[in-house]
Amino acid sequence: MTVENINIHQLLPNSEVNGPGKRFVVWLQGCPLNCPGCFNPLTHGSQGILMKISDLAKQINQTKDIRGLTLSGGEPLFQLDAIKQLIRLTDKRLDILLFSGYSWNEVVNDEAKKQVLQMVDAALLGRYNQKLSHPFRGKKLVLHGGRIKPEELKPWLSTEIVLSDGKVQITGLYKK
Ligand code: SF4
Repeated sequence: MTVENINIHQLLPNSEVNGPGKRFVVWLQGCPLNCPGCFNPLTHGSQGILMKISDLAKQINQTKDIRGLTLSGGEPLFQLDAIKQLIRLTDKRLDILLFSGYSWNEVVNDEAKKQVLQMVDAALLGRYNQKLSHPFRGKKLVLHGGRIKPEELKPWLSTEIVLSDGKVQITGLYKK
């Protein structure tokens, strides 16, 4: 199904702590999974920023010196048609990393979700587990196509603090 809009929580055009290299990060709005201790509860509801997918893709494709696109959330697979459309319109030179709270079994047993897995270069799948000390917190790494190497997804130990328009945004994966 072709959709026009995507519901966004936040954008960060130039991040170095959300996957290998410099990346454009899209946090999608909306998540039905309710992981205990969720690190981003503001993404749960439906009140995000509605953007035209073609405009967002244009913004991504025009961003200079980035290696890839990271899709995070919220839950990207909650907006399946929108992220498929976004991936289709994204410059094919950019690699794509997906963070999803859905497990490997949930994704591969659902044809529509599985299609997304086949469209991205790497995915970290599974519910967030606040009890695990590993920075990926119980997620399973899935690699596809060889553009992202497993060693590039060793846990990042850095955070990134971005100040913009009087707002502070702290992002990245870190070990507690
Ligand atoms: S999948 Fe992510 S956003 Fe959704 S509840 Fe779990 S940790 Fe929070």
